[in-house]
Amino acid sequence: MIKTKFKIQKKDRVTVLTGAGISAESGLKTFRDNGGLWETHHVEEVATPEAFQKDATLVWRFYRQRYLQLADVKPNPAHFALVDLEKFLGDNFTLITQNVDGLHSKAGNKNLIEMHGSLQKCFCLSCQQKFLMSEINLMEKVPSCPVCKGRLRPDIVWFGETPHHMDEITLRLRHTNYFLMVGTSGYVYPAAQFVQIARLNSAKTIGINLEKPLNSSLIYEFHQGKAGLILPKLIQSWLNKN
Ligand code: NAD
Repeated sequence: MIKTKFKIQKKDRVTVLTGAGISAESGLKTFRDNGGLWETHHVEEVATPEAFQKDATLVWRFYRQRYLQLADVKPNPAHFALVDLEKFLGDNFTLITQNVDGLHSKAGNKNLIEMHGSLQKCFCLSCQQKFLMSEINLMEKVPSCPVCKGRLRPDIVWFGETPHHMDEITLRLRHTNYFLMVGTSGYVYPAAQFVQIARLNSAKTIGINLEKPLNSSLIYEFHQGKAGLILPKLIQSWLNKN
């Protein structure tokens, strides 16, 4: 159990934002704890449209490795705690993730918005059709579209691009009673300003992170530490109050 000011009831709308920190205890590295590197790469080398134009082979090698790595990665107690919260709240629960690792779906969350895309998917730059990575020929240096032979790219929102589902996210943030952010540094926009939108609409804001995020002044109740330890206890405390 953990000390919390709040009592979440079934009628409350709760929106959760997760970042790379929630997957750290599953063995996936974050940017911030790795000197701004994603694995061994600077983000500009692999996570921008310019990088893809300059060296599509390198970018594909990077995302192919990230995708293949997922086979051995499992959700941790923090992911499973959010499944318990969704079971309790039903459609009043929304999970927005900046992560591309698919661990929230693997854990069992349904009401999920993957705002930065997914390592499991790619799309064709010519015909725009989307494919699962399992449906394409990953042996090709730069995989080609099974339909039109155009160039495929990972379905990842790169730096400088607009995240997916922003209209729906804004709507959810405007109507939420509670906003919980977990494992996110507060450096990456627009996700870093979601807490502000939620507060402007009178939501109670709660945060869990290893260190204080950049936007921590907007959080009412902050729990410092590992998500895998704190989040299950926090959610249990909320549910036990009912
Ligand atoms: P970030 O790397 O900027 O920050 C992660 C935060 O998590 C840090 O503040 C760190 O202190 C905290 N943290 C680390 N371990 C933690 C733990 N065990 N419990 C709680 N907090 C912990 O990540 P971000 O804010 O998500 O933004 C970076 C971008 O990187 C995102 O857009 C995301 O798409 C991408 N990314 C994704 C993955 C993934 O899908 N797993 C991994 C790396 C980067």
